[in-house]
Amino acid sequence: MNIKQSENLFERAQKSIPGGVNSPVRAFKSVGGNPIFIRKAKGAYLYDEDGNRYIEMINSWGPMLLGHAHPLIEDAVREALSDSLSYGAPTRKEVEMAELICQMVPSVEKVRMVNSGTEATMAAIRVARGYTGKEKIIKFEGCYHGHGDSFLIAAGSGVATLGIPGTPGVTQGTANDTLTAPYNDLERVESLMIANKGNVAALIIEPVAGNMGLVLPEPGFLEGLRKLCTEFGVVLIFDEVMTGFRLAKGGVQERMGVIPDMTTLGKIIGGGMPVGAYGGKSEIMDFVAPQGPVYQAGTLSGNPIAMSAGLSILRHLNENPSVYAQLEHIGNTIAAGLRDIDHKLGLNNSIVQIGSMFTYFFSPQPIKNYEDAKTSDTVKFGSYFRKMLESGIYLAPSQFESLFVSTALTEDLIAQYLRVHEDSLRAVI
Ligand SMILES: *Cc1c(COP(=O)(O)O)cnc(C)c1O
Repeated sequence: MNIKQSENLFERAQKSIPGGVNSPVRAFKSVGGNPIFIRKAKGAYLYDEDGNRYIEMINSWGPMLLGHAHPLIEDAVREALSDSLSYGAPTRKEVEMAELICQMVPSVEKVRMVNSGTEATMAAIRVARGYTGKEKIIKFEGCYHGHGDSFLIAAGSGVATLGIPGTPGVTQGTANDTLTAPYNDLERVESLMIANKGNVAALIIEPVAGNMGLVLPEPGFLEGLRKLCTEFGVVLIFDEVMTGFRLAKGGVQERMGVIPDMTTLGKIIGGGMPVGAYGGKSEIMDFVAPQGPVYQAGTLSGNPIAMSAGLSILRHLNENPSVYAQLEHIGNTIAAGLRDIDHKLGLNNSIVQIGSMFTYFFSPQPIKNYEDAKTSDTVKFGSYFRKMLESGIYLAPSQFESLFVSTALTEDLIAQYLRVHEDSLRAVI
């Protein structure tokens, strides 16, 4: 495979961008080799600067749910372009967007638009603190909620992949206000709440965790958290930046029937543009300025181009429930195929899947939390990743990430992915 252009660009990039990338998860540090530079994408395919084509299994870490360069979204953006790119004043589209989100996501009665998932989670805990008058938050080991100071404690995603110890750059005071528990451990959460009674403002969780590889909540776990939060007066925040509009049109909360007090959204909500949102009960959201005293603002928030892109995909999802049936079918077909291959090769690795998200862990251990995920053989994963890439399959360059498929992944492409997976596995085991 010729990757000369990518290699050249990466060499240049390292001189003017830290580590040569604008987000650490794009680096290939944990899998070996250098990142591939992407020139364009269409449907289920990515094309790099050297003209190599890859089947896309990340889809920009989630947003490209309908595949790349979808005409629906491209047309909406094109139409909005000629009306100028930004006003910093209210628009009709923001109202339509807010109404649609309130209609689609069960817990959301009011919503504020921001520019990224990170902004959404940072604002959500500030509002929860303002609302409760309490300071501490609880998060789970291996969950990632963006790069806000409060969340970089035992964080997943790139922090887990790079094995970054502690939290350089975060003050001790901030770190002390973040309490952590293992995922799926209700007892630990309860003892944290008892030990910090009257001091916990919020509990934030990925209700299906995708940032330590895919980890599912065990039956009763989310329900148990709901009960504890109500009992101790703690604001329950579902971080559905990844799962919102992906695992159901109303996210995990709709799919599993557990309703949080607040929800954070991102990724799909912008259709590929940088967008985030946080929302929840009116009683809580009315604390946000200018209605209430908790300040949160944004010069480009609710940007008309971003709203056009986001509205076009959300409307499509709202009106076409068949998209979710299709995504379930694709995810289920992949998981069944992966299990068959493991069986054939005498392997018993953990294959975790829900809807259009999945992770193949190089570990036979059932994966219930971050400790379990860490039993994976990351060296083997690295070799496997490079084989997949050389054979034209683009995966997340880390064992500790979920993969995300789009509706553009046809039966033929699924079969091709599974064939390459089998060959790559054979080569590394
Ligand atoms: C991606 C992600 C974020 C951060 O969103 P950005 O847009 O990258 O800032 C927050 N929470 C979860 C669950 C995510 O997957």
